[in-house]
Amino acid sequence: MSKNVAEYFACDVFNDEVMRARLPKAVYKAIKKTRKLGVPLDPTYADVVANAIKDWAIEHGATHYTHWFQPMTGSTAEKHDSFINPTDNGMIIMNFSGKQLVKGEPDASSFPSGGLRATCSARGYTAWDPTSFCFVKEGSLYIPTAYVSYTGEILDKKTPLLRSMDILSTQAVRILRLFGNTTATKVTSTVGPEQEYFLIDKKMYDAREDLIMTGRTLFGAMPPKGQELEDQYFANLKPRIGAYMADLDESLWRLGVFATTKHNEVAPAQHEMAPVFSTTNIATDQNELAMEVMEKLALKHNLVCLLHEKPFDGVNGSGKHNNWSMSTDDGQNLLDPGNTPMENLQFLTFLCAVIKGVDEYADLLRISASSAGNDHRLGANEAPPAIISIFMGEELQGVLDALVSGGTYVSESQTFKIGVDALPDFPKDSTDRNRTSPFAFTGNRFEFRMVGSSDNIACPNHMLNTIVASELCEIADKMESVPASEFDVTLKSMLAEIVTKHKRVIFNGNGYSDEWVEEAAKRGLPNYKTTVDCVPHYADEKNVALFEKFGIFTKAEIEARVEILLENYSKTINIEALTMIDMSKKKYIPACLTYSKELADAIAVKESVEICADVEKDLAKQIGELTSKAYKATSNLAEATAAAASITNIPDMATAYKENVIPIMDELRAAVDALEVMMPSSSWPVPAYSDIIFNV
Ligand code: ADP
Ligand code: MG
Repeated sequence: MSKNVAEYFACDVFNDEVMRARLPKAVYKAIKKTRKLGVPLDPTYADVVANAIKDWAIEHGATHYTHWFQPMTGSTAEKHDSFINPTDNGMIIMNFSGKQLVKGEPDASSFPSGGLRATCSARGYTAWDPTSFCFVKEGSLYIPTAYVSYTGEILDKKTPLLRSMDILSTQAVRILRLFGNTTATKVTSTVGPEQEYFLIDKKMYDAREDLIMTGRTLFGAMPPKGQELEDQYFANLKPRIGAYMADLDESLWRLGVFATTKHNEVAPAQHEMAPVFSTTNIATDQNELAMEVMEKLALKHNLVCLLHEKPFDGVNGSGKHNNWSMSTDDGQNLLDPGNTPMENLQFLTFLCAVIKGVDEYADLLRISASSAGNDHRLGANEAPPAIISIFMGEELQGVLDALVSGGTYVSESQTFKIGVDALPDFPKDSTDRNRTSPFAFTGNRFEFRMVGSSDNIACPNHMLNTIVASELCEIADKMESVPASEFDVTLKSMLAEIVTKHKRVIFNGNGYSDEWVEEAAKRGLPNYKTTVDCVPHYADEKNVALFEKFGIFTKAEIEARVEILLENYSKTINIEALTMIDMSKKKYIPACLTYSKELADAIAVKESVEICADVEKDLAKQIGELTSKAYKATSNLAEATAAAASITNIPDMATAYKENVIPIMDELRAAVDALEVMMPSSSWPVPAYSDIIFNV
């Protein structure tokens, strides 16, 4: 393999360059227009495109094609069909039609639909999203698609994202026009997701039923050393990890994924990969692809890649920082302060739309990062609290204060008058950043840090796009009728009003502190600690009104999503509880009983020859008590889990798992972890944390 990345980058992608080379000019132009403006592709061209893609795919080793989609739970879904078509002489030809490219009909009856398909008795179909490139992987042509039911209900994560991108574009362009911009025709939301992950040795993984079944350790005492020395963050890469990362880069680059940053993270065995940002839907597809490649590639290195938000207690969990902004097709980043007074006022308008939106729809953002896995991470003094707040930084805070007071902003060297002078560039230097904020301004974008490492980023981004679009719409509605002579004054007073009303959501202090939790409660900010607490608010009236107004979701679709999220939560906890019961009964309790028997035998032998057996007796007593605790907790857990599983109302079931099952899981774990500390490692039936996280 050539080491010149530019030579092989995207070699497995049917991208713009390939299209230009292989499609007739008119067809290429049409598809380019589709990609750029989001207009539908002329169906007469579909056959031509399909044929060109097929020929290219076959040259790249493909025998099959698959519509690749993102159902409402789990990761991506795919069903592969071959290009072969039998001929009369018992041979085949390789065929692929425009229809097959544009529309697929997976038998998707087993995908969760939150009751949508049942009520509409409609099957779903997948529709090609031509704004995201097709690619070849493992002998198949992958066609990125959106998935909807025949009666139009959304059944996936991507459709709302695509819709939200459209409405954000429309509303943002309205704002740009107010500022006299006549060149921009489209605004796209951009995202760069920083992906955290753990790598552990495959042998260790195979010896832990909990990791296999649930992706996280359900038991495990902390080793003598954790992450307190902070010697892992940015540390040099061990050869095995370095080799994996190099392989990962190459694999992702071949698939056209813009992987660029790699480093060790805070926890032992934890790492990060970040791509160069791109349009939200492409970034979403690429992140899904990246996660899949990360997991598969690890196996080749005899490693296992853990994408769970909290694989190990006591050390940091993994998130996915969602760096979000908006950019115009004439080259402006709308969250970049800009160099002229007018650009600055425009920047402040977009900024205020974000502030207002985040305050009014904090619940939606919280929901977009909620899952059973992320519940362990949020608010755990290692990740943003479950309270949504915005970090502005000192300079920008000064500007906002000046906006409200109608005064001036004084920076170190200069004085600026809002809307009259150009604002200075705000530092983009990471040392100045507040790492404890869930939603931080980082110079020219916002970094939404709550998102979990295994989350699909479509949801946080469709929420952000929709929320901000709605606020921009409100501003445009008011400002479009304001005469030019009053524009500046009216806008500034409107923005000042927004800041005054929504400044409660801004917090520049330490988000990990207890004082902030108290302060946030005083400010009336929601603090939904768990998935079960926040998800039902998806269907609150204001949220339904928002999504319906912009045609993102209907009420029924939102209710379906609430059901799916809560059901998924319940299923996750159910599997975890059952795995704990299994491990306790088959591994931990038998091991403890065997060891207790060894102690009893030793005591008997010693006492028969009148040697003091105090140590054995003391150990036997403590281990006996803990084993009996673990045994009791195991039966209680079995009972509580069965009771929760028998509840048919989905919100009630989820509540039962949260309130009745999780506390007993914690009890069982505490007993077993205490046993682990006391028992000799030779008698312990599974690898310990020290074997797992310090071993690669
Ligand atoms: P840090 O860890 O210091 O926050 P990284 O370099 O790891 O920064 O990640 C920053 C991410 O933000 C990258 O994916 C980068 O491409 C992305 N990013 C930069 N500018 C923008 C933008 N305008 N819109 C969206 N994402 C952006
Ligand atoms: Mg980073």
